[in-house]
Amino acid sequence: MCIFCNIVNKKSPSEIIYEDDEVLAFPDINPSAPVHILIIPKKHITSVNELKDENQAVLGKMILIAKKLAKENKIDQSGYRLVINCGKDGGQIIEHLHLHLLGGKELKW
Ligand code: 5GP
Ligand code: ZN
Repeated sequence: MCIFCNIVNKKSPSEIIYEDDEVLAFPDINPSAPVHILIIPKKHITSVNELKDENQAVLGKMILIAKKLAKENKIDQSGYRLVINCGKDGGQIIEHLHLHLLGGKELKW
C-alpha cells in the first residue's frame, strides 16, 4: 500500500499542516531545509507522467496552498523552492505525486 495514501487515510500517523477534500500537506520526515513540507493530492496519482487534464485544478490548488504555507512559515519574503520530482532520474522515491515546499535557508541547486 502507498505510504502517502496511508497518511491520507490516517492509517499512518503524521502531523497535518493543511487539509481539505482534495489536498493534504504534512512535514517531510527527513527534512532537507528548515521548512520542508510535502503537498499531495489525496487521490493517488503516481507521478507527473500519469497526470490527466482533469487533474489541472488540483495541481493549481497545490501551488496556491504552497504559497499560503510559505507565508504561514514566514519564508515568503526570504524565498523558497517548489519541486516535483518525476521518475528515477528526477529523484522520485515515493510513487504518489507530491510537491516539495523548501525554504528557511539559502538553497543550493
Ligand atoms: P521524492 O524523492 O519522492 O520526491 O521525495 C520523497 C520525500 O518523502 C522525501 O523527502 C522523504 O524524506 C519523504 N518521506 C518518505 N517517507 C515518508 C513518510 O513516511 N512520511 C513523511 N512525512 N515523509 C516521507
Ligand atoms: Zn498513494
